[in-house]
Amino acid sequence: MSKIHIMSEALANKISAGEVVERCSSIVKELVENSIDAQASEIKVELIKGGLESIKVTDNGFGMDKEDALRAFCRHATSKILRDDDLFFIDTMGFRGEALPSIASVSEVELKTSDGTNSTYIHIKGGEVLENKSGDLRVGTTITVTNLFYNTPARLKYLKAENTETYNSVSLIEKLALAHPQIKFTLLNNNRIILKTSGSDNLLKTIHEIYGLNVSNKMLEFSSSNNDFDIYGYICQPEILRSNRNDLNTFVNDRVIRNSEINKAINDAYHTYKPDGKYPIVVLKINTDPTLVDVNIHPTKQDVKISKMQELYDLIYTTIKDTLYNNLLIPNALKEESVSIIKDSVIADIVTSMAEKEAKPHQTELNFQVQVKKNTPELKVSDELVVNKEMKNFVLYPVGLALGTYIIAQNEEGIYLIDQHAAQERVNYELYLNALKKKEITTTNLLIPITIELAASDFLALKENLSILTTMGFVLEEFGLNTFIIKAHPTWLLEGYEEESIRKIIDLVINIKDKFDPLKFNDHLAATLACKMSIKANTRISPEAQAELLNELVLCDNPYNCPHGRPTIIKFSIYDLERMFKRVMN
Ligand code: ZN
Ligand code: ZN
Repeated sequence: MSKIHIMSEALANKISAGEVVERCSSIVKELVENSIDAQASEIKVELIKGGLESIKVTDNGFGMDKEDALRAFCRHATSKILRDDDLFFIDTMGFRGEALPSIASVSEVELKTSDGTNSTYIHIKGGEVLENKSGDLRVGTTITVTNLFYNTPARLKYLKAENTETYNSVSLIEKLALAHPQIKFTLLNNNRIILKTSGSDNLLKTIHEIYGLNVSNKMLEFSSSNNDFDIYGYICQPEILRSNRNDLNTFVNDRVIRNSEINKAINDAYHTYKPDGKYPIVVLKINTDPTLVDVNIHPTKQDVKISKMQELYDLIYTTIKDTLYNNLLIPNALKEESVSIIKDSVIADIVTSMAEKEAKPHQTELNFQVQVKKNTPELKVSDELVVNKEMKNFVLYPVGLALGTYIIAQNEEGIYLIDQHAAQERVNYELYLNALKKKEITTTNLLIPITIELAASDFLALKENLSILTTMGFVLEEFGLNTFIIKAHPTWLLEGYEEESIRKIIDLVINIKDKFDPLKFNDHLAATLACKMSIKANTRISPEAQAELLNELVLCDNPYNCPHGRPTIIKFSIYDLERMFKRVMN
């Protein structure tokens, strides 16, 4: 006889409740996922005090008959039909069949369900069935969970304050709504609607309903595939960035997942389009053979492992990079603060008061930003969400230089301000990067060799990594105590700045801390030299030099950002100008 049979079922449920039920949102997750599995097209989640007082989930899915309804509260019961292609589903939802009994063992649960013929009402407290009778007829299921942890008070204290619990559920439903745009979701807390999607089966519209018009207007669609993976979704233009990774929404076969490699692919694709430590809003849907998705990970954590990860990484990286490359990404000077449709002050309140709260250990980067409604634009809903897609070849005509720092330019679409340092930094960065990538190296001999004297420790550090310099095309040798003599350098060093550049490069080599990664090193080197060699702010450059810089800028792979991800160029569209001068009213 196995141990599980010796242990009382009620006890087993209570123990397992500790694993399944961590937060109110984990209950919401289990209940809503049941509704999704029951093919509901409408799911309503009603929380009281963030779920601390009550969690109610109502769906119009196919409901249960009498036996299934009761069996749903038995451990290891599962009504799921196992098919081969359900492997991933079963594995990520591993606690299926345990979730409901576990929840019921530590709370009070009322279930009303109807499959269209029978309707059932079951009332359970602490795992004990108090009532089991016929209910009112309505297809679908309603489950209400109250008195959470009333019989295990020690666990109560692990629940957070109302705001945190609410926030977690909102974030969860947002992701589930993005995973299932065909389902109409409504989320209320204390009878106030916080989130509502229309079930339009239109992903962009769902993004609009969750993030608001200012975000959905700045989303770029992508889709691509290789032998093993299909990917589809939306990425935001780099002018919209967040301080944490919460809005990297990733899904495999419509399941919400988390995977650090996938996040890295996204982040790498945005390299220099954004500053480090800022993150885009992304909705990435991956479809694949379920057998490529690994199984042995704690189901409530959403983390998955994926075989053929490198192939997936390459696909995501290339697709996002190409999407950014193929779109015009100049931010408008005038913009409304990010506004959501319904997640109004409710969420602002929650987020504000959460900002002081502790971050969860696995989400250390959490840094909540309050987005305050300001000049809320009238929301023209959303049949015509047009994603800005233009040709990239644009021309900028310089008008002059303002404050010795910003080039003013114009074209038929409006007026532009260009940060001359950032712009030249971008131009030089791509120049250096391309030179560093070249296979054949051309070198220039120095007529007067340069001697570089170093501190003893730096001398040793450089000696250790000398091959980096020689591979680049430097010819150098030791020259007395702690000194090197440079006899030739790669040709691409900017004329007149050879010694300065060489010193900077040596400085970077000396300071290599981790394992040498040539790609990273070259990138860092190109960015550093580019910054050093670019016109500073408060330097007056001639109209010819302005025109030349603008021409070089628009030819860059990414003309919109300096190598550190800051914008090079900002636009005042003619429409914005007319609006500001009240030439047009709206
Ligand atoms: Zn700089
Ligand atoms: Zn910069």
